Amino acid sequence: MSYSKSITSSIRQLGKRLLEWYEANGRHDLPWRQSRDPYRVYISEIMLQQTQVERVRSHYYPAFLAKFPTLSALAKAPLDEVLALWSGLGYYQRARNLHKTALLCPDGLPKSLEELKKLPGIGDYTAAAICSFAYDQPIAVVDTNIKRLLSRLFALSSPTPSKLWHVASQLLHPKRPRDHNLALMDLGALVCTAQNPKCEVCPLAHLCQAEDPLLFGQNKRQKRKETTLHFGISIQDGKLAMVRSQKRLYEGMLLFPPVSPTSEPLVTYRHSYTRYNLTIHLHSLPSPPQNAVWIDIQRLQEYPLASLATKGIALLRQKLVL
Ligand code: SF4
Repeated sequence: MSYSKSITSSIRQLGKRLLEWYEANGRHDLPWRQSRDPYRVYISEIMLQQTQVERVRSHYYPAFLAKFPTLSALAKAPLDEVLALWSGLGYYQRARNLHKTALLCPDGLPKSLEELKKLPGIGDYTAAAICSFAYDQPIAVVDTNIKRLLSRLFALSSPTPSKLWHVASQLLHPKRPRDHNLALMDLGALVCTAQNPKCEVCPLAHLCQAEDPLLFGQNKRQKRKETTLHFGISIQDGKLAMVRSQKRLYEGMLLFPPVSPTSEPLVTYRHSYTRYNLTIHLHSLPSPPQNAVWIDIQRLQEYPLASLATKGIALLRQKLVL
């Protein structure tokens, strides 16, 4: 049986079973599923790109919306305030792109896939998610969970993004495309998991073509690079000297001033960030740099601090350096 015939013959059964499973088991209580507001959908999708659902749900999503309830409120805010609220989430380019998008369309997001993809930081997936979850358009969504699930379901080894999109589009339920996409996403996240798929409770097990699921849909893990960094600590009148990073990874965020090591460090710690495993040494720095930004140690939450810095400050406090 050809690949496309196999898909076609499975569509009807799959759609019905999938939606039944979703109604009983889906993650209906996720806060971003309570709303069709495109802005709320957009914020959730950007936050969830590199961050676990629980962290987004419990803190970052409600805090962000409380402070910036609309695109126009986000557009009016200084970038520093947006970055401060993003502190700890990492991948700060996401926050900068949110702010740029708000400035470009403060009155609302466009409704077409193509127009959405012209905005900074909105790629194929996010545009499709907004069209489906906010506007209920009949557009397939393929996130990491759906990619893994479809790869296993149809035993696709290393499918290209366009092939997966094609498969997902063929499967899309004509009357309930939004629920269908959410159902696939939840089934991938809760049942067809990366390491231990629960095939025994999978509603699509009778259609699944993967004899060994672990052979399909696995992301290749990139090895993290070991890197050592040295920073300086200058304190004056209860304030700590920081500098604004120009490097792409942390652009706009406040970090300790970089130094060449000349003394024993006050504190050494490890931190992982994107593709890096960092060993960080904090040294005493008697003369702060001229471009220092002095931050009040009692009001850290008001500043756009990278988590690398907040972790270092907490350790300095433990050692009574601050
Ligand atoms: S049967 Fe197993 S591998 Fe196949 S889709 Fe279901 S959970 Fe995934």
